[in-house]
Amino acid sequence: MAGTQACCCVCCLLQCPAIDYTRHTLDGAACLLNSNKYFPSRVSIKESSVGKLGSVCRRIYRIFSHAYFHHRQIFDKYENETFLCHRFTRFVMKYNLMSKDNLIVPIMEDETNPNEAEGENDA
Ligand SMILES: [Zn+2]
Repeated sequence: MAGTQACCCVCCLLQCPAIDYTRHTLDGAACLLNSNKYFPSRVSIKESSVGKLGSVCRRIYRIFSHAYFHHRQIFDKYENETFLCHRFTRFVMKYNLMSKDNLIVPIMEDETNPNEAEGENDA
C-alpha cells in the first residue's frame, strides 16, 4: 500500500491518485440521484431504482474508507466536525443498502445501543 502514512495537508489529498476516482464517483452519484429517469420524484423511489442506491452507496463508501485508511488526519478532522461518515454509515444500515461486512471504517462504537441516538446531540 503506497499511502500508509497519514497525509497532513489538503495538497497531499489533491495529489492522491484516488482523487480522480473520488471526483468521478461523486459526479456520477450526483448525476444518478438527479436523473429524472431513475429518480423522477423527491418523495418516492421507484422499486426498479432502489438497486441503484446500493451500488452508488458502495462506491461512495470507498471514498470514506480510502480517506480513513490513507488520509486519517484529514478524515478525523472532518469527521469530528461533520460526522459525515458516521451519518452515511447509519443511513446505509437503516435502509440495508450495504452489507455490514463492507462497513470497514470503525465508527460504529455506539451501535450496541440502537435506541440511544436521540439525546446525543447538543454538546
Ligand atoms: Zn488518497
